[in-house]
Amino acid sequence: MSIHLRHIQKHFGRSQALSPIDLEIRSGELIGLLGPSGSGKTTLLRIIAGLETPDDHRDCRILFGERDVTQVHVRDRRIGFVFQHYALFRHMSVFDNVAFGLTVLPRAERPSSAEIRSRVMQLLEMVQLSHLAERFPAQLSGGQQQRVSLARALALKPEVLLLDEPFGALDAKVRQELRRWLRHLHDELGFTSVFVTHDQEEALELSDRVVVMSNGRIEQVDTPDTLYRAPRNRFVFEFLGDVNHLEGVVQDGVLTCGDARLAVDLEDGRQELLLRPHEVQVALQAQADAHLPASVMSIVPVGAEVRVELSADWMSEPWMATLSHQDAERLSLKRGMRVHALPRRWHHYPGAQEAPGTQVRPQQVSA
Ligand code: ADP
Ligand code: MG
Repeated sequence: MSIHLRHIQKHFGRSQALSPIDLEIRSGELIGLLGPSGSGKTTLLRIIAGLETPDDHRDCRILFGERDVTQVHVRDRRIGFVFQHYALFRHMSVFDNVAFGLTVLPRAERPSSAEIRSRVMQLLEMVQLSHLAERFPAQLSGGQQQRVSLARALALKPEVLLLDEPFGALDAKVRQELRRWLRHLHDELGFTSVFVTHDQEEALELSDRVVVMSNGRIEQVDTPDTLYRAPRNRFVFEFLGDVNHLEGVVQDGVLTCGDARLAVDLEDGRQELLLRPHEVQVALQAQADAHLPASVMSIVPVGAEVRVELSADWMSEPWMATLSHQDAERLSLKRGMRVHALPRRWHHYPGAQEAPGTQVRPQQVSA
């Protein structure tokens, strides 16, 4: 089921939570709403659900497929909802929690109790909890409770599944596991999902497309790959990952900041460059076009890479560089060691008028 949002705007009193938003979600897509706290993600999700009404405006429309649901009550929108806090009924067993939505249907629509039983058991099998059907929520781990919430949301066979920071309260490992769950169920059952997160990694890993929001506006809608490679503006660039800053004065193609110098193809004047940690190489020597001396503050192996923190007078904040284990060993990096940062490439977000730029430093053979 596709979802079309047109001119969705929301004020709470005089403060504007959403600027007019247009968004098209394709049928079967898994969409991540990503943004910092207060950017309007929950408000937008609740408006899609029908739990919140958008501001009255003649262009305001919410379509599920061809169906105009702008005025349709939440009960009749046929959506599944999963919240951050499991919101399970404490006094009901896992089975009864999942069955609840079915048992309260009007008699004409309600399946027989045998049908309810079989559907609930099927859902519990899908989230691998059938052996815990008689337990109560308090007897389950957080991850298990959230799987029950997922099964419960799917009981009414929704065509749209909405999730608000569904994994936010769980620890990293369980979160990872539940992401795979969600992706798997989404693909298998073919519904359209919109989930809210403030976690970049989660959004990039799970979504077909990500909607990046800030201050009640949509900053960019793209696939994770495009978003990461071609952020449209500085906000998106900075929000999507760790960033190192280099601010200085450019004159005749050289940016200078304290004792740091870097050849750049930019106009004279004050300029700021942004670099991702993997775009910073660490070397024992400077190069003709890049002299950025620094000290190693910390060396932390994280999975397949080594995170090296660099510090220098010319930085406003320490830089982060990610190296391969091989490179870290080859350099025999140690805390306190004097090294040189060598940007492989950098990004530049000038004023609103000009397009963002990326420059690649020509590779030199280091001595
Ligand atoms: P997010 O989910 O991205 O953290 P929200 O959608 O919850 O953001 O909130 C967006 C803005 O709207 C915030 O400034 C928040 O304080 C405000 N807001 C949200 N819900 C209400 C409400 N019920 N009453 C008043 N202000 C609200
Ligand atoms: Mg929220």
